[in-house]
Amino acid sequence: MELTMHDTIGLEPRHHDFRERVRSFSETEIEPAIEKYEERGEFPTELIDVLGDAGLYGINVPEEFGGEGLDTRSFVIAVEEISRVYKLPAGVLSLSCGLIGHTLQNVGTERQKEWLRDIFTENQITAVSLTEPQAGSDANALETTAERDGDEYILNGHKVWTTHGEIADLILVVARTDDTGNHNDVSMFAIPDPQEYDGLKFIRNIPCMEGDAAVESEVIYDDVRLPAEFLVGEEGKGFQYIMQALDIGRIGVAAQAVGITQGCLDASTEYADEREQFGQPIRDFQGVSFKLADMKMNLEASRLLTYQTAARLDGGADSVTQEASMAKTFATDVAMDAATEAVQIHGSRGYSTDYPVERYMREAKGTQIYEGTNEVNRTVIARDLYE
Ligand SMILES: Cc1cc2nc3c(=O)[nH]c(=O)nc-3n(C[C@H](O)[C@H](O)[C@H](O)COP(=O)(O)OP(=O)(O)OC[C@H]3O[C@@H](n4cnc5c(N)ncnc54)[C@H](O)[C@@H]3O)c2cc1C
Repeated sequence: MELTMHDTIGLEPRHHDFRERVRSFSETEIEPAIEKYEERGEFPTELIDVLGDAGLYGINVPEEFGGEGLDTRSFVIAVEEISRVYKLPAGVLSLSCGLIGHTLQNVGTERQKEWLRDIFTENQITAVSLTEPQAGSDANALETTAERDGDEYILNGHKVWTTHGEIADLILVVARTDDTGNHNDVSMFAIPDPQEYDGLKFIRNIPCMEGDAAVESEVIYDDVRLPAEFLVGEEGKGFQYIMQALDIGRIGVAAQAVGITQGCLDASTEYADEREQFGQPIRDFQGVSFKLADMKMNLEASRLLTYQTAARLDGGADSVTQEASMAKTFATDVAMDAATEAVQIHGSRGYSTDYPVERYMREAKGTQIYEGTNEVNRTVIARDLYE
């Protein structure tokens, strides 16, 4: 049997069928709606319903928790194919199935697992609230506190960059439950219906490069009283839970980047074929065709790294920390390079919002920063060389 490029990375015929299904869905259900959301600067909330109704939301989440019960490679396919068209809805899928899904299935209480079921059966939006103004890469510098008071915790603090925060149906928030200053002070809480708490104030949507459709909330927690049963897992283990979930989280970001790169390549090959200058299609200029060749090479390399890491998880690997960091870092750097060159190949049109490559460039930049900047991921990769 002839091997295709994807056979070499452990994808089976069912994965190819699934890819066809998601690609067709993305092109017919998502692509035509993008202009509306981008022009109005509105988050595409309805698209999460569309995803859920098509059975494409809780991809790798077991059926008992409301998901589709597919494997990690299928999760990567879905995130890649949706990001190839529009990253915002893929980002919701990536977060809900990644950091949130992984954490609540593994350490959530029965009630919290019910909330997980609600996320996927009601197509809910989720958020993670970790970063603070003074605590970015150094997450252990976080100052938000959760003080125990009888059957409650009282939450106080200031968070930034809580993606989807203001529109989220459930937020995972990380706060200090002791004051020794080390990782073991940090605990995690799940807050369903966060808008119902008076003290939980979404003070602004941070204006950002991704545009007004993106929701990046700045949040103040001002004496927010949470029932003690909102604690996720054990007190003092919040940091550990985040670190464990980052393996799947970073695979999700790598998949977003692979999708963006494929989108850049598709748009650029088409444009370079149609656009003529000096009496010939610009693809016939070596200066343009080499950009396309580099884009294709780097795309396939990032795809290999991403799917190999997903296949290792599907094969039962306990931890893929170094691989996930490599996939995330490589694929997102490739996406940024590809987007920059895609804009260049489109010339002035690439700089306008009439063509998708301008948006791909803005989307790609964020992937190099969230779920650990690429510098921080490089420190993880280097550290693991000695372990
Ligand atoms: C689009 C977007 C979405 C986000 N979504 C979320 C979210 O949903 N929830 C959430 O909690 N946070 C979120 N974040 C925040 C994100 O996790 C942080 O921005 C990130 O961890 C970096 O922190 P910082 O921005 O404070 O940068 P800093 O940590 O201040 O870093 C500044 C620069 O210094 C470099 N640097 C820092 N430490 C080191 C080091 N040890 N070695 C080498 N270089 C270093 C960084 O790589 C960076 O280039 C999001 C950010 C963005 C841009």
